[in-house]
Amino acid sequence: MNAPRRRNPRPTQSRVAIVGANFAGLRAAQGLDSGFDVTVFDPSPWFEWLPNIHELVSGAKRSSDLTLARKRLVAAAGHHFVRAAVTGIDAKRGTLETANGTVHEFDYCIVAVGGIGDTHGVRGVERHALPFRSVEQCAAIGRRLAVLMRGRAPRSIVIVGGGFAGVEALGEILRRYRSRASLTLHIVEAGPGLMSGVSTKIDAAVRKLVRPYDVRIHTGLPVAAITPTGVRLQGGKRLHSDLTIWTGGGVAPPLLHAAKLAPKPRQWAPVDATLRSRRHHNVFVIGDAAALPEPIPKQAFHALEMGECAAANVRRAAARRALRPYRPSRTPLLVAFGDLETFLVAGRSVVANPALAAGKETVYQVTMAQIDPPSSVHALGGLASRVIGATRRLVPSK
Ligand SMILES: Cc1cc2nc3c(=O)[nH]c(=O)nc-3n(C[C@H](O)[C@H](O)[C@H](O)COP(=O)(O)OP(=O)(O)OC[C@H]3O[C@@H](n4cnc5c(N)ncnc54)[C@H](O)[C@@H]3O)c2cc1C
Repeated sequence: MNAPRRRNPRPTQSRVAIVGANFAGLRAAQGLDSGFDVTVFDPSPWFEWLPNIHELVSGAKRSSDLTLARKRLVAAAGHHFVRAAVTGIDAKRGTLETANGTVHEFDYCIVAVGGIGDTHGVRGVERHALPFRSVEQCAAIGRRLAVLMRGRAPRSIVIVGGGFAGVEALGEILRRYRSRASLTLHIVEAGPGLMSGVSTKIDAAVRKLVRPYDVRIHTGLPVAAITPTGVRLQGGKRLHSDLTIWTGGGVAPPLLHAAKLAPKPRQWAPVDATLRSRRHHNVFVIGDAAALPEPIPKQAFHALEMGECAAANVRRAAARRALRPYRPSRTPLLVAFGDLETFLVAGRSVVANPALAAGKETVYQVTMAQIDPPSSVHALGGLASRVIGATRRLVPSK
């Protein structure tokens, strides 16, 4: 290990390290002021707006619509951004180490590393399927589809996973390509129905919407293997595939267990109601990475709220005041099905209406503007380009 790097904080400043700077980590950074010496670590230079990444598949959005430069956002909050992955956290010593071997000291650490794609141990996923978890990955799927759909050769696309992401992926492919002849779309889900954890209504509505097209829904069928030419289901059935999209959900990254924040590999890090690690009192774990005492869905708006709460609790801890519990708000979820339908999910109740697409767009526009307040030329330019893009999409030219 290199000698710990210590930036020269003012004597009254607590040193805060934030590991991961997407929804949860970035919002935590924005909640801490210059009274703290804050360093933010992330290997990627771009903040990514994940709730709309399915729209990259159809080209309804471009990568630049969904990304913001982290360095600029962190600097605007008055903090220091280090573009590096954190490879180890030693909470007892109050140090962390980055991939390039730099050691950094902290008084408080906020861990907001999200999750990583889960292959569920299925053979061939990494080699033969395209993952669907980041802006870059969804843009790559969009490019592959555009090439495949040229000409008139019959094409078969398989989406593995009939959860939120799989349903949104299917909707986007239909948005762009549903009039193409000789196109077969398969969606495969191990559970009893599409988005069965949310409501049976979405499964029924999607089945009705896809009736005019060659869409085949395979539920209750786990995938056994992905091959270069298709997908093999348990029981032996094979689906030919020119492109396989994997939306298999997420699992905890190895860092959580390695840093002794999670008891076992692949497990999220247990926290108390104030988001403080159950294992280390100087560490807060927020966003998808956290296992709360009362589990909540892993969603962006909860990650943002947890970022705010963790920043407030670091301020309280530094002032030796009692910490406050995190209270998740009950924000409904909007699930887009291309331009065919949008579902609003509130608890177990579901409302379906294509006009709700404007609601999803508004959430995106407003939250992006909150993350990147239009006070600089860059932010104003970004906001203008997002609004123009949205207007074009919602009001298509004749
Ligand atoms: C396809 C898809 C669609 C979704 N749609 C919706 C939706 O419509 N609505 C909704 O509310 N939610 C949605 N979600 C869920 C939402 O995106 C997550 O809940 C949210 O991103 C969690 O935020 P986070 O900050 O905890 O983690 P993430 O957004 O995953 O960010 C984690 C960050 O940590 C960084 N990181 C990871 N490891 C390290 C390390 N070792 N060192 C430093 N940095 C590291 C990563 O680079 C990343 O920037 C969707 C998710 C996906 C994948």
